[in-house]
Amino acid sequence: MPLPVLLFLAFVAWVLTAEPPAGFPILEYHMVTENPRPGAEKYVVSPADFAEQLDYLAAEGYTTITPQDYARARKGKQTLPEKPIILSFDDGYEDNHRVILPMLEERGMKAVFYVVTNDIGLPGYMTWNNLFDMERRGMEIGSHTANHIPLTTLPPEKQREELRLSKLMLEWKGLKTIYSFSYPTGAYDAGIVAMLAEEDYLTAVTGEAGLNNVETNPYLLHRVNIPPPHFGLTEFRLRLMKADIAARLDVRLAQLPDGVRMGIETLRAKLRGDE
Ligand SMILES: [Zn+2]
Repeated sequence: MPLPVLLFLAFVAWVLTAEPPAGFPILEYHMVTENPRPGAEKYVVSPADFAEQLDYLAAEGYTTITPQDYARARKGKQTLPEKPIILSFDDGYEDNHRVILPMLEERGMKAVFYVVTNDIGLPGYMTWNNLFDMERRGMEIGSHTANHIPLTTLPPEKQREELRLSKLMLEWKGLKTIYSFSYPTGAYDAGIVAMLAEEDYLTAVTGEAGLNNVETNPYLLHRVNIPPPHFGLTEFRLRLMKADIAARLDVRLAQLPDGVRMGIETLRAKLRGDE
């Protein structure tokens, strides 16, 4: 076997044998519907696949929680179930209420729905009444900003507006206090993270794989994207495993000298960008 291959295999083995930090996954979805609109296919999981995934999670003993449950647990105000998981849905599409809500309810599950406030009520998106109904039926509503612009492309005062106005709009309309946030396209920097705390958010989710526990930065929660599976449940199980492997990689990276670690982090960021 050539040396580079051997070294790579040794590295993989070294990562896989790391003690993973105990933690729970957060899954990232967008739409669940039979009729994806053209161009949106990679964001759409079919109802049949979604049902299979939910049933798998239930069979594996997972209990769904919301970001607010997690935030309360961090403050010692709530204990989390033995095997928690957060199901999250970005962008606020109309199928979230029509298709996803009944499927979750049927299984006694809850989830968080991150909505873009200026899209509420537009064709293809949930209406205000849909959101009130979601909340009444035990779901959490979070903010995905007012306009879905990657925040890192905006000047700080515009970033703050996106965080503040979306939260205020949801609350003014009568939803419960909004504490949870999802970065549009997963883009963030240190300034935005600090701003979220100033604007009274308690948690935020990224698009970076990994697991979460009370030690995780609550504004940098790891999340695994679930695209439409080409290989059914096997692929879904691999995605869940990806969270676990990413968590182990973080453990190993922390053990490396700074120079080596930064090289690997850069490579990882590049790979993520291509995803
Ligand atoms: Zn989005």
